[in-house]
Amino acid sequence: MTIKDSLGPAQPKFSELLAQPEVKARWEKVRKYFFLRESTYDMSNRCNIRCDGCYYFEGEKQFAREIDDVDAWRRLMRAEKARGITYVVLAGAEPSLVPQLLKVCYEEMPLGSIATNGFKKIPESVGYKIHISVWGNDETSLRIRKAKNLLKEQIKNYKNDPRAVFVYTFTRENIDEVNEVAEQLVPHGCKLTFNVFSSPVGYAGPLRHDDESLQRTKQRMIALLNQYPQQTLFSVYNAVAHTHQKGLHDLYKCSYPRQNPSQDIGLGRSFRQYRADLNWDRAVACCVPDTDCGDCRHYAAGSAVVTARLYGHVNNLASFKSWLDYVDTYLAVWVMGYEKGENLCNEPIKPPRVAGD
Ligand code: SF4
Repeated sequence: MTIKDSLGPAQPKFSELLAQPEVKARWEKVRKYFFLRESTYDMSNRCNIRCDGCYYFEGEKQFAREIDDVDAWRRLMRAEKARGITYVVLAGAEPSLVPQLLKVCYEEMPLGSIATNGFKKIPESVGYKIHISVWGNDETSLRIRKAKNLLKEQIKNYKNDPRAVFVYTFTRENIDEVNEVAEQLVPHGCKLTFNVFSSPVGYAGPLRHDDESLQRTKQRMIALLNQYPQQTLFSVYNAVAHTHQKGLHDLYKCSYPRQNPSQDIGLGRSFRQYRADLNWDRAVACCVPDTDCGDCRHYAAGSAVVTARLYGHVNNLASFKSWLDYVDTYLAVWVMGYEKGENLCNEPIKPPRVAGD
């Protein structure tokens, strides 16, 4: 999520892009958060459900020994702060199983978010954003997550909770179920955003998207954004960026260490992905390790990769507005107390070819 770029040569001038008061106001609003520097942490090697296509249970990290020592975590958080980290993403396998560690992290590092399946409520004293993963209706959750009445449990735990954002992951199979899910979430004051299933390395199962399912996903995202603008944290450009035939790396050039050898600036220098044993490995470090980079359309990846590409979005006003909408969305999803504004651009623009092709 680090926002880092230089403006470089661009047409029109940057001052001209800021001529409209609402554009200037949005730029001033989002730039206050350019200080965010993230790293991610696997809190546990256990989960209370088991989902098809879960990237945590791929690769080496799932075998890391769990460290349940709160003092060790406190020391880690202090060391992270000392090296400039200002934002933590607490994830894999299931963070709600270790509330004592979440508490310590929050005491040391007050900005962050937790990725959870929502089955077990995280204590309200932990004031991070909480991302609750939804993979379809309850029938589908039972089939692919082996979890009964999952959405009902998630809503019971997190309705009207200002920390909570329900993250609907579109797979190839659940596109039509999203309306039913939204109809259940909206009356309970639940905020909704979207993710796109990104295959773990080697996964070729039925959840993997194809061109047709990506197109339908995009249409459904935009329709829901129009239907529930107050409760859907998203923009047209989010939909475009995450459902393109090409993945995020091809479109924007991923800046996480796993795809970025440079250690000079930005994520390539600062980002670490700690496993449950508190070790990390630069060669595999990104926010969704063991995901197939060619199929990566993950919302967490986009929050860093797209936001970092300011320079690719300053060639015209529609592109710049779309980038502002994307950053505004990402901050509303990831930062406590940040309120999403009205989207500035409702026309789909083409992503810039910053990765070159
Ligand atoms: S999986 Fe996504 S975020 Fe991770 S390195 Fe590959 S492209 Fe980047």
